[in-house]
Amino acid sequence: MWSWKVLVFALVAASSFTPVHVLEVCTDHDCFSQDSTASGSQLSSNTFKSRWNINISKLMHDLDQFRVSCNKLLEAFPVDVIDGNFPRPVKNCIFSKSIPTPLKGPLRLAAASKEVIEGILDIDLALTQSDDFLHYASGGRLLPGSVPFAHRYGGHQFGYWAGQLGDGRAHSLGQYTNSAGDVWELQLKGSGKTPYSRSGDGRAVIRSSVREFLCSEAMHALGVPTSRAASLIVSDEPVTRDQFYNGDVKTERGAVVLRLAKSWFRIGSLEILSQSGETDLLRTLLTFVIDEHFSSINSDDPDKYLVFYSTVVNETAHLIARWMSVGFAHGVCNTDNFSLLSVTIDYGPFGFMESYDPNFVPNTSDDEGRYGIGAQADVGRFNLQKLLEALGPVLSQQQQSEAKNILKGYVDIYHKRIHQLFKAKLGLVGEQEVDGHLIAFLLKMMEDTRSDFTATFRQLSDISERQLHSRNFTQFWALEDLSSHKLFSDWLSMLQLRLVRQQNDSDLDRQHRMKNVNPRYVLRNWMAESAISKAEKNDFSQVALLHRVLSSPFVTQVAAEEAGYAARPPAWAKRLKVSCSS
Ligand code: AMP
Ligand code: MG
Repeated sequence: MWSWKVLVFALVAASSFTPVHVLEVCTDHDCFSQDSTASGSQLSSNTFKSRWNINISKLMHDLDQFRVSCNKLLEAFPVDVIDGNFPRPVKNCIFSKSIPTPLKGPLRLAAASKEVIEGILDIDLALTQSDDFLHYASGGRLLPGSVPFAHRYGGHQFGYWAGQLGDGRAHSLGQYTNSAGDVWELQLKGSGKTPYSRSGDGRAVIRSSVREFLCSEAMHALGVPTSRAASLIVSDEPVTRDQFYNGDVKTERGAVVLRLAKSWFRIGSLEILSQSGETDLLRTLLTFVIDEHFSSINSDDPDKYLVFYSTVVNETAHLIARWMSVGFAHGVCNTDNFSLLSVTIDYGPFGFMESYDPNFVPNTSDDEGRYGIGAQADVGRFNLQKLLEALGPVLSQQQQSEAKNILKGYVDIYHKRIHQLFKAKLGLVGEQEVDGHLIAFLLKMMEDTRSDFTATFRQLSDISERQLHSRNFTQFWALEDLSSHKLFSDWLSMLQLRLVRQQNDSDLDRQHRMKNVNPRYVLRNWMAESAISKAEKNDFSQVALLHRVLSSPFVTQVAAEEAGYAARPPAWAKRLKVSCSS
């Protein structure tokens, strides 16, 4: 028998997991919950209002009314003195003004997120069908108020300082203050060259854009902090890519995602200033970020940078714990892809782990497995160490040594969060000594039997205690795999004993709690891949289906079941590869 402490730390740290998301009641015609079958064939306006809190009376019915502002961002910092979208080293600024290159037509709207378009941008979804929208959301026409710009940042890539990176294929369009008073920064991704494009063409292809669109929205629905995606526009513009860096160059088609975040500043935004000795600008950017996005920090506090650091350490630990709780591997955890607001950004060769494996590496170009799923917590600490170094020039000696202590606390914050999240995934309430052991024991069995991560936890939620006890696994393929482990019965007895000790709890309550944290559907590569191959032929039906299904990942849905999204992945899924090339 293994020591449970060793397992908790080795396995839970290596694989960890996320928290509770408030379950929405899905009233789509093809959604049903286990407890009751929802009725109604169409979502009425009122349904949207209650479900997504969209205030219909505030929706804009004319795109000319939609205004963004660049004043705050462009006036807060010096702007690049050179104009033009040619690659160059850029110094002493935060942004370069840069006009998007219009995507060549014909343009097609491949997907739009009603939740973002109406719920965040206050725009009537019907307007996304207009030519105006196609042009605004693909870089062909500038939104009223927009003075587009690209952000200068650097970063550590695969462990090494990579120098200047910057938005090489993204343009910020400006900030939008919505009817709820929230400020969002809008960006186009795939919108052409900027001063930061280096050798790239500034474009993004359909496959990577579909993945970014779907995964941003899916992660949000899973309760994981993330940038959002408003729309996906595809074109016939040819873009050449060597997808697997093996000399097999193919012509693909260009696409643009309109994406949103409260801020796109990254660890690399600070690193470049620190590395090039631009300390005044470093201070200006830090003060701006704190004033705009860290409202609990007092701008007069002499320790404000330290408090900022401590907050980012805490939030990054929480974010990675959440990734782990849904089996998400980002794929490229470079410091330029780590947000200062600790939201998931820059979706590339990510993957949701299927068979449980702490060494799961989603990015086939990551030969050494630096960004494998089980390494993410450690990589988070590495990135926070780089953030600390970037803050060096504005911290006193005393503050630097306090910052080092704060970083030492990261592991503990992470473990506490993971422990909470996995307890919730197992339906455990309160704290008992056996809990860590129960989790680690389960993960070890999953690793040995290569059980599917998402399906195992979901099926433990869907199955009744009676079925579990009688080993009736006919409808539970992942549990069937798990139960082949020789210690399964021992573990089950421990779990049942633990659950019995929970006062004021019933089996139905346990199932209900677990179903709210264990998704039935995640964006598996094979699901994305078949939607992509259709989208490349201008059939966007499966993108729409996935978008709809993954907006309610905790709710069993007829269309999703028919598509096999909760079934054992098809054999061909094992051969799929994703790379950085996008
Ligand atoms: P990543 O970390 O993959 O997001 O990309 C690192 C840097 O490369 C960023 O500055 C990107 O904007 C840039 N980049 C990636 N692909 C392209 C492209 N096709 N054209 C121009 N720049 C790119
Ligand atoms: Mg990036």
